[in-house]
Amino acid sequence: MPERNPYQMALEQLDKCAKIMNLDPNIHEILKYPKRVLCVNVPVRMDNGKIKVFTGFRSQHNDALGPFKGGIRYHPNVTMEEVMALSIWMTWKCAVAGLPYGGAKGGVICNPKEMSVGEIERLSRGYFHAISSIVGPDIDIPAGDVNTSGREMAWFMDEYSKVKGYNVPGTVTGKPIIIGGSEGRVEATGMGVAITGREAAKKLGIELKKATVVVQGFGNVGYYSAYFMEKLGCKIVGVSDSRGGIYSKKGLSVEHVSKFKEKTGSVVGYPDAEDMTNEQLLEQECDILIPAALENQITEKNADKIKARLILEGANGPTTPEADEILFKRGIVVVPDVLANSGGVSTSYFEWVQNLQNYYWSKEEVIEKLDKLLVKAFNNVYETYKKYGTEMRMAAYICAINRVAEAMKVRGWV
Ligand code: GLU
Repeated sequence: MPERNPYQMALEQLDKCAKIMNLDPNIHEILKYPKRVLCVNVPVRMDNGKIKVFTGFRSQHNDALGPFKGGIRYHPNVTMEEVMALSIWMTWKCAVAGLPYGGAKGGVICNPKEMSVGEIERLSRGYFHAISSIVGPDIDIPAGDVNTSGREMAWFMDEYSKVKGYNVPGTVTGKPIIIGGSEGRVEATGMGVAITGREAAKKLGIELKKATVVVQGFGNVGYYSAYFMEKLGCKIVGVSDSRGGIYSKKGLSVEHVSKFKEKTGSVVGYPDAEDMTNEQLLEQECDILIPAALENQITEKNADKIKARLILEGANGPTTPEADEILFKRGIVVVPDVLANSGGVSTSYFEWVQNLQNYYWSKEEVIEKLDKLLVKAFNNVYETYKKYGTEMRMAAYICAINRVAEAMKVRGWV
């Protein structure tokens, strides 16, 4: 298969789904393109006194259901096509979760691991200032993503509030609680992975108390996915970060591994476990595999070597369309990103609602609402999956596209 960029991959997935659901070609045509993509070049004064210009993007795919929504990532491999694909996936994700949002995504080409905190702050403020005319609580609400978290969200919110001249907490989600963040948002994506995993396990007859789990990625999503799967009774047998993976048949304590990573900077070298590459980790013996790092991890090269029965996509786009077909043929169930990691954006929605009404909920309330929302979304997708007899990804897309299409129709876009 020739190498292609994530946007081409998102289009292939859309085409495949359009065929299965017999989608109106006019709606299909509109959905192929982001409504708007902004490219900004942001000059930043580096610590050595020199100016460096960073390129960033914000892609707004579709806002038929409500304002655009989606995170902003910092990574050296960010491209416009990647951000466009991620914005399409956000449209599906928000629609699958039943949120009144469309899809967007942002990204800045940079390596925050090689930058000082001051440099990252100046870049964050500069980037957000540059996109401030197309974001806002009623237009487009950014959030965190790869290499961005509460710290960056606070700078974004502050920068936007300065532009406006008053506090606008509802302009970004994933903020620290003290300035309008929601209880439960930090752990929400991983919790959502575990909730959808719990529901999928019920349907597949997997007993979680006896199940083994491998998690690729130990950032926010990977760490909390492992943490909550462990809480559900699973044995975590493998984890990894960008430097490599570790595997132990006996099981790993998520807390101990996390402390080890805090001290040494990586999970690699953890005692009582075997070190291996990220690629090797994916092929290890386990019942449930959670790719929670980046795109393009499960491809036609390794899909036939995966041993898990169930895959929960914590990351966005970890499985290529070819791999999807191989896994489907092998009877391995993939709970797609747009469902499995939708706990993050769903709790972002709760945060935004709290910001708009200036009234804040307890953690228990947030978790209860999240659990209900995800169980409903899961069951919706599962019913469609059974009805169409196709991959769960296509079932999720059918649910999503039906909602977006209906909104587009009643609004008179087609
Ligand atoms: N970046 C996360 C995602 O891909 C969260 C988006 C949000 O909360 O808006 O779903």
